[in-house]
Amino acid sequence: MKEARLMDRHSVQRDAMDDGTCTRCGAPSEGEHCSPCREELLTLARSALQWAGEKRPPAIDMSAESATPDMPSFAAPPAGAQPYHGFPLLENVTASGFRLGMITNFLAFPETRGDAYVIAPDGSRAGLVWEETDRTYFEQAGPISEDRWGVWAAGFVHPMRSKADARKNLETIVPGLRDAWQRWVRGEYDEMLPTSELIERQRELLESEDPEVVARANLDLGELLEEDGDTDGAMAAFSRAMASPLQWSVAWGAYRMAGLYTMRGMTEQAEEALRYAIAIGVSPLTGLAALELGALLERQENSAGAKAAYQIAMGSDDGDAAAAAANQLAFLLQAEGDAEAAEKLYREIVESGSPEAAGWAAYNLGLLLERRGDAQEAREVWQKSAESEHANGDAAYALGRLLEADGDTAGALEAYRVAVNTIPADDIGFPAVAAASLLDDVGEIEEAVRMDARAIDTGVPRHMGWALTNLGRILERLGDHDDAEQAYRDAIALGVPEVTEAAGRYLERTA
Ligand SMILES: [Zn+2]
Repeated sequence: MKEARLMDRHSVQRDAMDDGTCTRCGAPSEGEHCSPCREELLTLARSALQWAGEKRPPAIDMSAESATPDMPSFAAPPAGAQPYHGFPLLENVTASGFRLGMITNFLAFPETRGDAYVIAPDGSRAGLVWEETDRTYFEQAGPISEDRWGVWAAGFVHPMRSKADARKNLETIVPGLRDAWQRWVRGEYDEMLPTSELIERQRELLESEDPEVVARANLDLGELLEEDGDTDGAMAAFSRAMASPLQWSVAWGAYRMAGLYTMRGMTEQAEEALRYAIAIGVSPLTGLAALELGALLERQENSAGAKAAYQIAMGSDDGDAAAAAANQLAFLLQAEGDAEAAEKLYREIVESGSPEAAGWAAYNLGLLLERRGDAQEAREVWQKSAESEHANGDAAYALGRLLEADGDTAGALEAYRVAVNTIPADDIGFPAVAAASLLDDVGEIEEAVRMDARAIDTGVPRHMGWALTNLGRILERLGDHDDAEQAYRDAIALGVPEVTEAAGRYLERTA
């Protein structure tokens, strides 16, 4: 199987060469790539190899002044310096008067997420945390204060390979930038109070004559104390909330109390508190509490009790909790061998659950169908999920595997891309490596290197190992045997047996 794949790869290469043009830019070329393209791809692959597993240095503005001669300017800004002093402004990366500054050096390494900053037309600044995604978003990630108009999280739809890419991405978030900057211009700063002061404020509210105010203050205070690590204080606050004459306060107090009991390993008390919260019947808390109770009982291997709790959550008016509970119940039924009941439940959630629950149900339903031998049906279920707005990343990866096994390279690649863009970055190793390998097969070297870099960034030895092996193959293909050898050796050094075997075989062939 593996040997067949290798031969495939070579035949792809040969087809490209016969064409007489560079497969990347179309210029006349004797080899697969013209020499400028080859150099660019080599630089990219070498930088991915050089920085594998290392903390990469930020971009530096060489001309910025430092307050201390032996420290970089960004770490030792002179008095009165602007925020993000010492990080370079990107020349010509401008959209509607907003200019982009670079912190994470995406020009030196194939980065897919990073930090940056934006300068408004009046010279004021904001922070920007960006990532490559399949849809644009712009969300607040830090407060608007006197010295900067906030920190913002943005989803960029164009890969950040060049200044031109950066400018295109900057353009997509101009409406959000303008809105944020205008808020700052109007002086609408976000209040930033230290936790101790917030706690003090809630304590003052406890003196109120109004039971509503007191109840809310107890719940808020408990939450703040819990965040602050004062569990005893939090428990006291939640107990007071439970002693309130108001039903919702009693229920929420019990629910929050259960969380603290669980944290302390006091499962019996946690169970009792959750049952109490459920019995009060305050919507929409009932669904949440029942879902939690189900999970708690499942951990204690009380399957009948867990099922009953999930049923309560499914009947509650919290749609998300109901769908999550249905998923949990189906999973439990499946684990107990009642595949028919599980399938029925999954299908119901796929049709009518909340988007996230439907995504997980689609993933699990597909696995169930695949295990039963209905690969065709599994593929349809996953395909539908992958094409929906709220695609489930695991379902997309599973779909990619099926399509790849069927020889549908284009379909598999598309599915892997969806998976890489929806699964949290630390967990994208499997689809990223799978995509990189296919991209290499079809001659999309640049995207292959970027996928390998993403897999390396997960820090998981298995995925790093396969990505380094892939990089070695790419470097070899580009004619750089020394760096290819280095990549194989780095892969072997990670000590993952399957990787060592594959990389060892390639290493032998280069030597
Ligand atoms: Zn070219």
